[in-house]
Amino acid sequence: MTRHTRYLAPALLAAFAALPLVPATPEFWITLLNYIGLAALVVMGLVVLTGVGGMTSFGQAAFCGFGAYTTAVLTTAYGVSPWLTLPAALVLTGAAALVLGLLTVRLSGHYLPLGTLAWGISLYYLFGNMEALGRHDGISGIPPLNVAGVDLYGGRAVFYVIWGFVLLAALATTRLLDSRIGRAIRALRGGVTAAEAFGVDTGRAKLIAFVYAALLAAVSGWLFAHVQRAVNPTPFGLNAGIEYLFMAVVGGAGHVWGAVLGAGLVTVLKDQLQAVLPRLFGGAGNYEAIVFGAMLVLLLHYARDGLWPAVARLLPPPAPPAIRPDAPALPRRPPPRRGGPMLDVEGLQKTFGGLVAVRDIAFTVPAGAIVGLIGPNGAGKSTTFNLITGVQRPSAGTVRLLGERIDGQPSRAVARRGVARTFQHVKLLPGMSVLDNVMLGAHLRGRAGVLDAVLRLDRAEEDRLRAEAVRQLERCGLGDSLHRPAGTLALGQSRIVEIARALCLDPLLLLLDEPAAGLRHAEKRDLAGLLDRLRDEGTTILLVEHDMDFVMGLVDRLVVMEFGAKIADGLPAGVRRDPAVLEAYLGGIE
Ligand code: ADP
Ligand code: MG
Repeated sequence: MTRHTRYLAPALLAAFAALPLVPATPEFWITLLNYIGLAALVVMGLVVLTGVGGMTSFGQAAFCGFGAYTTAVLTTAYGVSPWLTLPAALVLTGAAALVLGLLTVRLSGHYLPLGTLAWGISLYYLFGNMEALGRHDGISGIPPLNVAGVDLYGGRAVFYVIWGFVLLAALATTRLLDSRIGRAIRALRGGVTAAEAFGVDTGRAKLIAFVYAALLAAVSGWLFAHVQRAVNPTPFGLNAGIEYLFMAVVGGAGHVWGAVLGAGLVTVLKDQLQAVLPRLFGGAGNYEAIVFGAMLVLLLHYARDGLWPAVARLLPPPAPPAIRPDAPALPRRPPPRRGGPMLDVEGLQKTFGGLVAVRDIAFTVPAGAIVGLIGPNGAGKSTTFNLITGVQRPSAGTVRLLGERIDGQPSRAVARRGVARTFQHVKLLPGMSVLDNVMLGAHLRGRAGVLDAVLRLDRAEEDRLRAEAVRQLERCGLGDSLHRPAGTLALGQSRIVEIARALCLDPLLLLLDEPAAGLRHAEKRDLAGLLDRLRDEGTTILLVEHDMDFVMGLVDRLVVMEFGAKIADGLPAGVRRDPAVLEAYLGGIE
């Protein structure tokens, strides 16, 4: 950090905080800044939900409505003091979000945003038609906020409350994203399969993001009600919901401060456009919607990540997380008896419509061994992996781990029992650092939840998880790439990162789907050395591979598949001479 930039942020912050105290500051500026703060709260929720979690919502304004109407009714009809209605607003909105979230987040693809549109519209009409909420006229006469016995009338007074909440929300959100739960929410972007394979309950992670975003919107609505001193359904309709999403896209939906930037730019722009456009086009009308629409298209073409990354380039880069190698090591599973059966597959079958992808497969993987599963493309090897790891359900047959059945269990339950895997098509999060990607592998070895993260009670555990991830990366020879974004690695290295991530689970059984594909000769030799060491240290490995030479010198046993069926099983040297294998496998390659 240079001498100038170190003082820049505090100086700007102090100037910002002093604005309302300067009598020359126009009242109108203060009003605009207050609206920016109120919007930023909602947009910060969208950062978590949409930017990080990948779930698009058009319905956030409805949650503002819950917050606003809760306090409007409680203060005007029951005379409850405003500060007491905040917890009530949070509880009510949280409960509503939980119900709507349960219905919405399991929708896939485009159905999810469509679902948010549906309840976004419904709630707007609900607010507008309920007698108790004053129908379309709404509720007026809401008391102002009161701090230390002083009623906060006017924008200058309430400015500090609004921006105080914005700072608190930014702090909480930053902490949440930099935590075990935050990694689980990030992992949603990489698809459900990879996240569940490391024990993340993706349904729960989605719900957490959803409720968190709704709660921030509720705070904004609650504040809004006391700033306006009146509420009606209009600010909580679909138009507002779309505008919040637009702010998130403009600012950069993946960044906490992008929310403030987006809220600021769009609020100011809207204000300017509302003054200028009617003069250009004549008459009144929501012309700014046209400009926003055009801007959205341009942004999605030229700046998908919004404008925050451009601002962030001017700032000093964030310091990488501190690594504490002396953090106490995580507890490990008791090692199994060497030589006993680790994995036992019997009569395994999988059909896709008319295609039998896996046909009556049986084999055993002894504890402490490396078993190779080979066969031509389309033989059913990856499907066999998916059946063992619970990604897919077998049509028939059993899978036993240390004698206990695991077939048909969801993949995160299989992961919990100590089965870790890599993927033939690498499933890392390209924008996240190598270290954070690998830490996801240790998800099941941590406990910390949302509150631990927000209150920073999770630091000791995070240190341990991070130290473990570093240890596994160093073990795999990637100790010098910890802070690189995973997307900048070559394919071969990404495969090794996946192995390090799997090792973080402290696996009894490690399933590797074509780990040597895309590796250069020397890298393959290193990988073979690594797998050899892992076996010596007690890890059992089942390995799918194409490269005969790579598996021959490494594995204890070989299972050969063709067209879904097993055609050979035995010691590598014997299998290599098997006529059926020579015909099918080697013939298939040529
Ligand atoms: P391998 O990993 O040995 O190359 P796979 O297990 O990926 O083979 O595929 C085995 C067969 O099953 C292939 O014919 C493939 O097209 C088919 N298959 C795999 N997954 C599915 C699926 N989800 N739906 C339909 N067919 C599938
Ligand atoms: Mg495959």
